[in-house]
Amino acid sequence: MNKKPPSKKRFLPLFRWFYHLDFMNATLPFSSLRAFGFCLIAIQSHGQSQSIDVSPDVISYSVQLEPDIQNKSIKGKETIHFLTAANTKEVVFSSGNLKVDFVRGDLVERFFQRDQKLFITLSEEVKSGIEVKINYHGNPKKGVIFNANPPTAYTVYFTDEWMICNMNPDDRATIETDLMIQDGLKAVATGQFQGKSDDANKVTVFSWNQKNTTPAYTYGFAIGNFKETSDKQGDVKLNYYSLNWSTDELNKVFIETGNILEFFEEKSGVKYIQDSYSQILIGDHYQEMSGFSVLRDSYASSVLKDSSEIHLTSHELAHQWWGNMITCKSFQHFWLNEAFATFMSSAFNEYKFGKEKYDSDISIYKDIYDDILKKGKDKPLVFPHWDNPSKDDRNIVYYKGAYVLHLLKQELGYDAFWKGIKLYSQKYFGKSVVTQDFQKAMEKSSNKNLDDFFKKWVY
Ligand SMILES: [Zn+2]
Repeated sequence: MNKKPPSKKRFLPLFRWFYHLDFMNATLPFSSLRAFGFCLIAIQSHGQSQSIDVSPDVISYSVQLEPDIQNKSIKGKETIHFLTAANTKEVVFSSGNLKVDFVRGDLVERFFQRDQKLFITLSEEVKSGIEVKINYHGNPKKGVIFNANPPTAYTVYFTDEWMICNMNPDDRATIETDLMIQDGLKAVATGQFQGKSDDANKVTVFSWNQKNTTPAYTYGFAIGNFKETSDKQGDVKLNYYSLNWSTDELNKVFIETGNILEFFEEKSGVKYIQDSYSQILIGDHYQEMSGFSVLRDSYASSVLKDSSEIHLTSHELAHQWWGNMITCKSFQHFWLNEAFATFMSSAFNEYKFGKEKYDSDISIYKDIYDDILKKGKDKPLVFPHWDNPSKDDRNIVYYKGAYVLHLLKQELGYDAFWKGIKLYSQKYFGKSVVTQDFQKAMEKSSNKNLDDFFKKWVY
């Protein structure tokens, strides 16, 4: 595949979305350090020091949130049901910049906060589940983007800035969210909408419940005086929200959503798991969450100008499978989230707009990768350390990764490749994955040993 250097013109559409993908907004240097965060503490035992994993295995979160948009603050009451690791009475949650007011529970002996963590000591080891109740408040520094006028708020990745949680991508739990909203604003949150009720103080409580488990970074909400329209794909309701765009414009921008959803269901062999999928045009971020995505407000103008510029609709929707439901076990294997979402958006482009559009995408990914090679910045897709990724590191995970998936498709042929994707997606749906899981699925579908390919391109 030898391509001419890309003309500036060909690069332009790419640059509209290239640097704005979900995780690209400089979030990872922090997330990697904190979300990587299985917690180890050293304890003294019989004169010998040993490390014990004190990360809780969370079963469910139930959270009642009062966002104060004008003051950019949040108050929360939360119940967490979890299991502790063996041989420990300690448990550690991420608490971001939140201040914990109290932790209550039958076995709670004491708690304290340090380095954006909440440490809880229990009075005895717990082999089965335990429940604690936590009250907290704070002014999120990131993780919630507040805007006073017009009033909006939406979340971006750092869930521990607005609720106490285990941020390890390997920890999956259910979540119930009650959002207490003032001024007649609308709200969207993770999971299935349960209804809304008005209380005496002109506060509307929006209730959402997600019964399938996903990692904490996929939880979130968006609040605003949104215009709203909807569509349907099978049994799935597709909701589109915006402050600034008309319902006609929203329908045009998101017209392909149903087709994209159906395409990913077919390619993964797994039905979309929620009863709705919402897209909210708001602010400056692209972030997938479970059951909804926020997309930069200005994204609409590029799609309205060119109806084939829908990479981001499909990229974020692809995460409902690859990322949210099939999740990298640690950020070493982050390409299993991001290269997949990037490649899948091009696979849909091929299906919808033809081979030329797909080839153009792939050649852009290759150009980005060639540029990295020229600079001597190439790295394996499986990162030994994802501590402080540079822009090149992220480009490797997104674009070299998508290019490598294309090469793998060439190596195996179309049928064996997609059979392997289906096998992998079905087997690991609702689970955490490492690269070896993917390699094994592709080897099984193609009946080929892929050690050499993975050694050359992945490790
Ligand atoms: Zn993404």
